[in-house]
This record gives sequence, C-alpha cells and structure tokens, in this order.
Amino acid sequence: MQNLLPTLFIALAALALVLTLLWLWQSLRLAFVHTLAAPSTAAVSQERAALLAEKQSLLLALKDLEAEREAGKLSVADFNGLNAQYRKRAREVLHELDTLLAPHRGEAKALLAAASGNPAAPGAVAPAVPEPAVAASAACADCGTHNDPDAVFCKKCGKRLRAESGA
Ligand SMILES: [Zn+2]
Repeated sequence: MQNLLPTLFIALAALALVLTLLWLWQSLRLAFVHTLAAPSTAAVSQERAALLAEKQSLLLALKDLEAEREAGKLSVADFNGLNAQYRKRAREVLHELDTLLAPHRGEAKALLAAASGNPAAPGAVAPAVPEPAVAASAACADCGTHNDPDAVFCKKCGKRLRAESGA
C-alpha cells in the first residue's frame, strides 16, 4: 500500500492534466464558435441586400411594363394583370424588409437616445420646451421694465420684483 501511493498521485496528476487540456480545448472551441456565429448579422444584411435587389428589379419591371403598354405591346388586361402581380410582390418585399429590420429598430432607437443623452423612451418625441413665462413675471409692476428672470430688483426703478426667499 505504501508503494502504491506515489503511483496513485501520478495517476491523479495525469488525470488533472488531461481534464485541464480538455477544458482548455473546449473553451478555445467555444471562442471559435463565437467568432463563427457572429456572421448572423451578415446573413441578415445578405438577405436584406437580396430583397433590396428584388425591389429594384420589380421597380424596373413596373417601368418596363408601363413602357410596353404605352408602346401598345400589351393589352390593357395583360398590363393590369402583370402590374397587380408586380405590385403585390413589391409590397411583400417591402414588408419583408420591414420585418427584417424590426428587431434592430428598437436597438437603433435606444442607441440614438443614448447618443443624444435623451433617456426618453424609444420613439418618444422630445417634448417641446415650453416658452417660459418670463416676460410677465419679470416685468416690473411699477415701471413695466422687463428684467432678467432671476432679477430681485428692477434695473430701472429699483423696486423689489420678488419676495425675499428664505432668511
Ligand atoms: Zn421698475
């Protein structure tokens, strides 16, 4: 038994080493998977690019269609059918583009709000700054002179404009 202990320790140490290496390999693999998983946004922009291209070609097709009708190459019925078909697909493409961007819209708004230092909820319109009722309150009751909003005494006649605060 006495002779077996060192062997046991060596075996345990070897096991620990193997486990460490396994853990290291696993975390490296995870790191790589992470960098490989990143292009999910690239996939989105690829899909978006494809949709934008389709939208462009649909717009061109609609123009061609109109030109052909004007040139008398298309009957009104044919034109109406194709026109409706292209427009329907164009609407679908626009809708898909919209859905594609929807998850990013909230994110973008939050970023914009953070960048402008405006903590307001996303999409909230910045409240119009109310016109301060300075003119009325700062006008001297005696001579009518307009003083600075924080003035205590009228700059013309010296009349006290506001009650003494505190003290
Ligand atoms: Zn005054």
